[in-house]
Amino acid sequence: MGKWVYLFEEGNASMRDLLGGKGAGLAEMTNIGLPVPPGFTITTEVCNLYMKKGEKVIEELWPMVLENVRIVEEKTGKKFAAKSGLPLLFSVRSGAKFSMPGMMDTVLNIGLNDETVELFSKESSNPRLAYDSYRRLIQMFGDIVLDMGLQPFENELESLKAKKGIKYDVELSADDLKELIKRYFDIYKKFNKEFPQDPFIQLRMAIEAVFRSWNAPRAITYRRINNIPDDLGTAVNVVTMVFGNMGDDSATGVAFTRDPKKGDKGIFGEYLVNAQGEDVVAGIRTPKPIIELKKEMPAVYDELLKFCKILEEHYKDMQDIEFTIEKGKLYMLQVRTGKRTPGAAVKLAMDFLNEGLISEEEAILRVEPSQVDFLLHPRINVSSKLQSIAKGLGASPGAATGKVVFDADLAAKMSDEDVILVRPETVPDDIHGLAAAKGVLTARGGMTSHAAVVARGMGKPAVVGAESIKIDLKERLFTVNGETVKEFDVITIDGTSGNIFKGVAPLIMPELSEDLKNLLSLSDKLANIQVRANADTPEDAKRSYEFGAKGIGLCRTEHMFMAQDRLPAMQEMIVAETIEERKAALEKLLPMQREDFYGIFKEMKGYPVIIRLLDPPLHEFLPKREILKEEISQHEKNGEKDIAEKKKRLLRRAEALKESNPMMGFRGCRLGLVYPEINEMQVRAILEAAAKVMKEGDRVFPEIMVPLVGHINEIRFVREKLEEVAKEVILEQGIQIPYLFGTMIELPRAALRADEIAKYAKFFSFGTNDLTQMTFGFSRDDAESKFLPVYLERGILPVNPFQTLDRDGVGELMKIAVERGKKVNKDLEIGICGEHGGDPESIAFCYEIGLNYVSCSPFRVPVARLAAARATI
Ligand code: ADP
Ligand code: MG
Ligand code: MG
Repeated sequence: MGKWVYLFEEGNASMRDLLGGKGAGLAEMTNIGLPVPPGFTITTEVCNLYMKKGEKVIEELWPMVLENVRIVEEKTGKKFAAKSGLPLLFSVRSGAKFSMPGMMDTVLNIGLNDETVELFSKESSNPRLAYDSYRRLIQMFGDIVLDMGLQPFENELESLKAKKGIKYDVELSADDLKELIKRYFDIYKKFNKEFPQDPFIQLRMAIEAVFRSWNAPRAITYRRINNIPDDLGTAVNVVTMVFGNMGDDSATGVAFTRDPKKGDKGIFGEYLVNAQGEDVVAGIRTPKPIIELKKEMPAVYDELLKFCKILEEHYKDMQDIEFTIEKGKLYMLQVRTGKRTPGAAVKLAMDFLNEGLISEEEAILRVEPSQVDFLLHPRINVSSKLQSIAKGLGASPGAATGKVVFDADLAAKMSDEDVILVRPETVPDDIHGLAAAKGVLTARGGMTSHAAVVARGMGKPAVVGAESIKIDLKERLFTVNGETVKEFDVITIDGTSGNIFKGVAPLIMPELSEDLKNLLSLSDKLANIQVRANADTPEDAKRSYEFGAKGIGLCRTEHMFMAQDRLPAMQEMIVAETIEERKAALEKLLPMQREDFYGIFKEMKGYPVIIRLLDPPLHEFLPKREILKEEISQHEKNGEKDIAEKKKRLLRRAEALKESNPMMGFRGCRLGLVYPEINEMQVRAILEAAAKVMKEGDRVFPEIMVPLVGHINEIRFVREKLEEVAKEVILEQGIQIPYLFGTMIELPRAALRADEIAKYAKFFSFGTNDLTQMTFGFSRDDAESKFLPVYLERGILPVNPFQTLDRDGVGELMKIAVERGKKVNKDLEIGICGEHGGDPESIAFCYEIGLNYVSCSPFRVPVARLAAARATI
């Protein structure tokens, strides 16, 4: 082990491991010439050694402490435990590498006792100062070092103030404080404790208390929660006291070098005249805004400004400082990087870049993707006092307030009101209700459940899997924890935290600031992996383009069939018993699809658009069987034979399509292989729309994607058939349309046989929702509300694999697919369109394995752009 104790001038900012954050900051400030009261730091290594060996370590440390005290005495011209002159006093402050609430606090005024307090009083000609400092020491020492708690001392202070009829501590006279000190000593007696009169024993006990506090239960818990290793240890800082409580020309305060809320230039902070230490944060008196210091002590204010500027230029970031003014002289007592809101983080990054203090890369690294996410969604004003009534999974961020509505039709009908759709879970035919609602709440389902995915896609808040709410669809209400919420009652959901509130919670609306736009353009410049969006409609495409997507990575055509006016034609197609009937129904759908694609192509202005051929099992387009049965008996009762017959036909078809495991059932390319007419119609619609765009002089680049391929023959047969349709349309239109055929890689077999599949696919897109489901064998609709939480809690899995890509398993399959696919076609375009495409961790992985792009919901695009740049840097 090296040196145990460092004078401030012997350390520097890079020694955080050894000196802790506070110690490193004090050392750095000392070395750049800022006025820091002299002092020294005992290293974290000593703390660790003490934890192992106890008392012995203090014995060995002690001569070094004494030597450093002597040096400080020389520097200050004062004596610790003085017999004459102004006595030297110390603060003893803990300071780990990471700032850690729950650790020992600071003890100020160490060195005062019954004798030195008289000396201090006489030499400073300020008895009030002396006794105020002494009573603080007795109080802090009792609370922090001897574990007596603060409350007994507070009680005495309050009762004395009451007796004197005064409100503030500062109004206590020297004699009052003497009285208080007596009372404090009585408390010590009651606790059977002794206040050490020897300053050196005070110092030694305080240092030991700091060491011990590293293993205080609160500190241990804090480390667990925040993933801070237990073996870092804390440093101990011993700092010469300076006095903000010397009178009206003295003060103590805290400041940020810029506004931590908005990021604006100019210092921001508070101070208290004639006060010491933590009075500012303790709320004892209301502190004054820092700007008042300009009037009260103009010279000090100017100096503070100057120091802040020096610190910013030195650390190249916004800093958070503590200072004390003693009789008009400014001292710096702490510096650290300032915490900031997401909005301020963006502004500060761009301002520091523009001021030439940091590089472009550094600016990108200054903002966390989660901060950008936070800025893109309306959120609950945290200052509101509303109590949450239940909690589910925060599946799509943002907050929404509205009337509770229990079915999608009603939500759609009430579209000019704010409604929250509340369902046990949602299914594809709820889409119109989801579209109309401000947010969605489900009792079942996980982060990739239908409600979650669709809500994220729409940028709507969603809370899913709130299993504690009991929905009664008949009575049209839900109950939770003894509360009842009826239909049309107003609730607020917070899709970030998963909280559910009764009533209106005040919201804050987002706006894309100029700084954020600039940060994102910078991200695009630096990123080596592109960002596309998952968008199903022209509106989504427009938003994607505006948010900076460089194409569409997934357009799910099934969503187009769910719309109210299209569903009948779709159902006709499904119940068709002959090819002719089916073709007739598809004939009706063709112009609608063409119109959709045309709209999307126009919005994307020539960027590639990947369109996935019909994927979900057909039963999703039919009404629920139970509902059909009920309706049929109703129609029969009413004598409406024709309608009943029609519905019976639907029911028969629904019965026939019933599968016990639909996600592994008759879906994806399997549909197209059995009913090729569906795919043919879709390809025709895509290419006719493309031709129309081209004839208008605009650029277009459709990519046609075949879902759920596992075997080479699946893509081969599908593609051969569809190439014929493509040729036909191109001939008819008389125009050469650029297009690609490709496939999703969402089955383990497809990943393993990627070399074969690449012979028929010009592009791959990893559908990692299904790939994760199929690789783990976890149902994506159920796992998250059933056993996954237990898995996460017990550490069986480190993270939810539906949220963050499982690098080792699913990721390995992806790597294999990339390698094998590129061996056959080195220009193979590869991306990802699963939910993971918007997750920063997963984006980093996609970059590492060489994907060309990630695709995510439109509202995630800005987050993904930043994450893509951060992955590249
Ligand atoms: P925390 O980490 O909880 O902020 P600190 O060690 O920074 O604890 O100190 C608590 C308060 O005491 C701060 O307001 C600080 O400015 C003040 N303080 C600490 N050391 C001294 C000192 N030597 N002279 C005057 N005030 C001090
Ligand atoms: Mg502090
Ligand atoms: Mg899929």
